[in-house]
Amino acid sequence: MSESYEVVIGLEVHVELKTASKLFCGCTNLFGQEPNTHTCPVCLGMPGALPVLNQQAVALATRAALALSCDVHPFSKFDRKQYFYPDLPKAYQISQYDQPLATEGHVTIRGEFGMRSIGIERIHLEEDAGKLNHIGQRLGDATGSLVDLNRAGVPLIEIVSRPDMHSPEEARLYLTELRTVLSYLDISDLRMEEGSMRCDANISLRPSSYTGSLVDLPRVEIKNVNSFRNVQRGIEHEIVRQKALLEQGIRVVKETRGFDDAAGTTYSQRSKEAANDYRYFPEPDLPPLILDTEWLEAQKREMPDLPEALRHSLTTEGLVSRDVEVLVQDRALYGFWREVVAIFPDVKLVTNWLLSDYSRHMNAQGLSFDTPGVSAEHLAQLLGLIQDGTLSGKMAKEVLEAMFTTKESPEAVVQRLGLSQITDQEAIRVIVAEVITANPGVVADFQGGKDKALAFLVGQVMKATKGQAKPNLVNSLLREAIASHV
Ligand SMILES: [Zn+2]
Repeated sequence: MSESYEVVIGLEVHVELKTASKLFCGCTNLFGQEPNTHTCPVCLGMPGALPVLNQQAVALATRAALALSCDVHPFSKFDRKQYFYPDLPKAYQISQYDQPLATEGHVTIRGEFGMRSIGIERIHLEEDAGKLNHIGQRLGDATGSLVDLNRAGVPLIEIVSRPDMHSPEEARLYLTELRTVLSYLDISDLRMEEGSMRCDANISLRPSSYTGSLVDLPRVEIKNVNSFRNVQRGIEHEIVRQKALLEQGIRVVKETRGFDDAAGTTYSQRSKEAANDYRYFPEPDLPPLILDTEWLEAQKREMPDLPEALRHSLTTEGLVSRDVEVLVQDRALYGFWREVVAIFPDVKLVTNWLLSDYSRHMNAQGLSFDTPGVSAEHLAQLLGLIQDGTLSGKMAKEVLEAMFTTKESPEAVVQRLGLSQITDQEAIRVIVAEVITANPGVVADFQGGKDKALAFLVGQVMKATKGQAKPNLVNSLLREAIASHV
């Protein structure tokens, strides 16, 4: 009988914290600056320069840990992780090893399988390394490499999941939910393409006959993939590759692999270091990190509303789960939705317009909800004009499009384009009478039982009013007039 395999995935996510200065020195923490313009003896690793811990970084890391339901430890400490690489001036990274800031959290994912909790083993604070800029396409063909140490010493948290995911899709859902939760804390830019959020994936296959511990399965780590989509693709490829090896009776080697975006495949980089290769030891230049109980309680009190609570309240407000997910997953969109609803409380009308036409214009203009193309006030006014019958849905779409272009108020657009529905019944009755007089044959057909004939007459009235009459009203006025027209 052929063996079956269970996919086992654990993710390590690095998140750069949005502090004003670096983790252990006063240098500015800013992305995209001239190389080596934000450095000092501490982050350059000059002998004798001493690190001083950034309190804001501790606060942001603590908020992340609380949001992910971790136990935040009042006592943790820093350690040196030794390795040699040109982007690491000290030849060690200050990190946290055996006593991290937080442990035992979780992230809840939702999918066709329902809801599942993915465990978080630990969250620790550490400093980022610098960056190598290779001259040429990629490392292999580079003619040289330049070191930029602006990023050296930028504060990071590393969030290590438990090996609780069993498919590439679950890994993607975990990353998406993790980013959503963190986005509400405003602690990081969370941009994978700029490296402020980075992900390493550990994948192994457990044969059904295997009875040993998960930890002893040979793991392959895919490093520094640049998008959620590529994390998923890298894992997909690894599953196929490892399965093929196992089926041929070949052992999977424990190693670090890179992901080739163009080919959609992983390639071997180096054999994976074990923890003891890093020769961790306590950082002698920093005291242990001790969190005061009162300080920790204050952090808990200042936590914002998080996605779980928002899902609950939006569902209570009557939104369907699909809309709830779209709103919650984009913090800026959710904030904008709240602004509009505060002015115009018809939750369903606001949601429908915001998630369809409004979002379509935003996408077309390449805008994010941090900078909405039409203000919450103007959108609320437009919805008001639909509700009071001034505009049909079709007219409102036209008005909204103009608002995105000219930034005018909806009233200004309505006046300029001469839009607005004719709701004055007397005005429509006059046109109805004219249409009936001009089309005696069609009227007779309708009277003879041809229901379709009425649609033609409605069309004639709409045409005469340039589409500005309410079709329902035209319909009933026509029936009324024909009934009394003998
Ligand atoms: Zn510095």
